[in-house]
Amino acid sequence: ISPVHVIGGGLAGSEASWQLASAGVPVVLHEMRPERGTEAHQTDGLAELVCSNSFRSDDAEGNAVGVLHEEMRRLGSVILRSADEHKVPAGSALAVDRDHFSASVEKALADHPLVTVDRGEIGGLPPEEWDSVIIATGPLTSPGLSEAVAKLAGQQSLAFFDAIAPIVHKDSIDFDIAWFQSRYDKVGPGGDGKDYINCPMDEAQYEAFIDALLAAEKMEFREWEKDTPYFDGCMPIEVMAERGRETLRFGPMKPVGLTDPRTGTRAHAVVQLRQDNALGTLYNIVGFQTKMRYGAQTEVFRTIPGLEKAEFARLGGIHRNTFINSPTLLDGTLRMKAQTRLRFAGQITGVEGYVESAAIGLLAGRFAAAERLGQNPSLPPRTTALGALLSHITGDADAETFQPMNVNFGLFPPVEPEITPNGKRRKLKGRDRKAAMAGRALRDLDAWLAETRQAAE
Ligand code: FAD
Repeated sequence: ISPVHVIGGGLAGSEASWQLASAGVPVVLHEMRPERGTEAHQTDGLAELVCSNSFRSDDAEGNAVGVLHEEMRRLGSVILRSADEHKVPAGSALAVDRDHFSASVEKALADHPLVTVDRGEIGGLPPEEWDSVIIATGPLTSPGLSEAVAKLAGQQSLAFFDAIAPIVHKDSIDFDIAWFQSRYDKVGPGGDGKDYINCPMDEAQYEAFIDALLAAEKMEFREWEKDTPYFDGCMPIEVMAERGRETLRFGPMKPVGLTDPRTGTRAHAVVQLRQDNALGTLYNIVGFQTKMRYGAQTEVFRTIPGLEKAEFARLGGIHRNTFINSPTLLDGTLRMKAQTRLRFAGQITGVEGYVESAAIGLLAGRFAAAERLGQNPSLPPRTTALGALLSHITGDADAETFQPMNVNFGLFPPVEPEITPNGKRRKLKGRDRKAAMAGRALRDLDAWLAETRQAAE
């Protein structure tokens, strides 16, 4: 069997290589460090954690990332196994000793007879004779390769900064205040003139909001991020507010073309939210990318009328981050439509975080292995955390506003209402809803695993 080439020995590339080798497929893993470094990596180790040492919540009953951990364990993930072996006390989170963790991933790969680690940069498109490649070069992909990908994908389809606006769970929005309406009731393709959720502000509320934005604590850009020229397109809302108190009212908060049904008039300012996934469970706040600290964001955004009780699927941010527009570029098994020998995995596909990156590496590795062995790649059910994340990046997410995403329950299909003892249907909420989604995910994962094992035999 000829090898699959994996480019990038980070979280995703290491996991993809492990899955390939575990399936009996030879791998060459290309890692550019130490020959060439990135702005964030400090060591030569595979699967280096560039910042925090936490894989976040390990609660597989009530937290989406905890469910993802458990699913990855059941699929034999080397990242999860090494994390479990080298965990340090961190309450309900899974945190690790970063050096031991990285060394353990590296040893597992080095000891595997089907894995060859080749140190060196792949500075452009991989040679044509490599017929199956996984590109897992991360948020700091080297310039030569990112330019080649941009050429192939189209400049518009590769971003060098994320500009993440906060995303809200729709069912936490107060529709006694907010209403559905597109500006000037414009009907877009497939729309009904009611595509946006609108939250109105009167003058006093707007002025207080501007004060809160200006006073909020912000995060600094890293020194090397300041030098990247791509930053202009994604100005944080607090910077817009600094340019003048009315700037936002003439920008993302303009009230024109919208009528508040409670008053029958135009509000002083309007915050708009746009649907973020095909399921319609998540909405992003339009134009609200921000460098405010997370605590400050929750506080400030909950002063918006209608969002007083908003639950956030993710908060805003702006970072140096190389990622492609996966919903348009990739097929369901992470292959580039324009050149199907190339698969993508990790943060470059538009997921966010160590665990999510490794999870997409795991899937890319399994898909590439199945293909090499002449089997049909089998997709995880979309009710699982793996399936929900994969569906999001390969199709559910809105391609136009696509920004990196953490795993969260808003990506999962809704659960059936509960039938109460007197035969009534009761919508599950809060902890019960999360527990039902988590339980369903793990049951469906087990059934899928049993099925794929049977098919392989
Ligand atoms: P990486 O782990 O970065 O792996 C990519 C690998 O590819 C690297 O080893 C790199 O050297 C190599 N490479 C790049 N180009 C080439 C090439 N042309 N040829 C060969 N090799 C190449 N996520 C969290 O969950 N928690 C955090 O605290 C966190 N902090 C972050 C801090 C920073 C500064 C950044 C940039 C990101 C952070 N992330 C964090 C986000 C993300 O989860 C991590 O970056 C994660 O490591 C992504 O995994 P990956 O495998 O996609 O990329």
